[in-house]
Amino acid sequence: MPGWVESHAAAAPDLTALDRAVSDCRACPRLVAWREEVAATRRAAYRDQEYWGRPVPGFGPADAPIGILGLAPAAHGGNRTGRVFTGDRSGDVLYAALHRAGMANQPTSVAADDGLALRYTRIFAAVRCAPPDNKPTPAERDTCAPWLHRELALLGAHLRVVVALGAFAWAAWWSAVPAVYRQRPPVPRPAFGHGAVAGAGPAVPVLIGSYHVSQQNTFTGRLTPAMLDGILGRAKQLAGID
Ligand code: SF4
Repeated sequence: MPGWVESHAAAAPDLTALDRAVSDCRACPRLVAWREEVAATRRAAYRDQEYWGRPVPGFGPADAPIGILGLAPAAHGGNRTGRVFTGDRSGDVLYAALHRAGMANQPTSVAADDGLALRYTRIFAAVRCAPPDNKPTPAERDTCAPWLHRELALLGAHLRVVVALGAFAWAAWWSAVPAVYRQRPPVPRPAFGHGAVAGAGPAVPVLIGSYHVSQQNTFTGRLTPAMLDGILGRAKQLAGID
């Protein structure tokens, strides 16, 4: 018998309904407790703001040919603003790159009502609630997977390329191959790497690996703006854009 997440995800007829349904999810006790504690205590700089404190849905058009798959919302980013990669340093790097690539109408993403609109791309996370230390457990990843799977199914054949930000997202992708596309994932699984490209059949979006846009990577120069531009350029090329 399907669990709560699976049945509610499967019942969503479109992305708007899915976004609404995921926002009500309380399936992971540890993550529910954490996201709500962060929302109640708040960071000093945001003391006067009402935190979202709930699961963070995907963002971007329903006919996007490119998906960007992140790890999970940041405690004081998406968990505060209610929009993925919004209001944190990782998002600053990502949206600036999307703007340079012609995939966002503005280079910044500070609040859910800031007028940002995406073109060609939809951004979503493998785990929809902010985890302590940015580390969801494998069980939490698996519990959350039906939300991702339904999102991919609703994007359908529009979606031709998925950029996995980091090794966690890369690993999380493979469960979608049988669940959504009814194909067998390659054995052995292709290894994550920055610029790695992996396919699983003509009906399955091509996967591209990218180092995550975390401060840990961008402050140390492990991931530079030029490297991210290269990944988005490759994604557009593989998606047949421009
Ligand atoms: S991580 Fe996913 S499955 Fe777990 S409570 Fe959040 S939205 Fe629900």
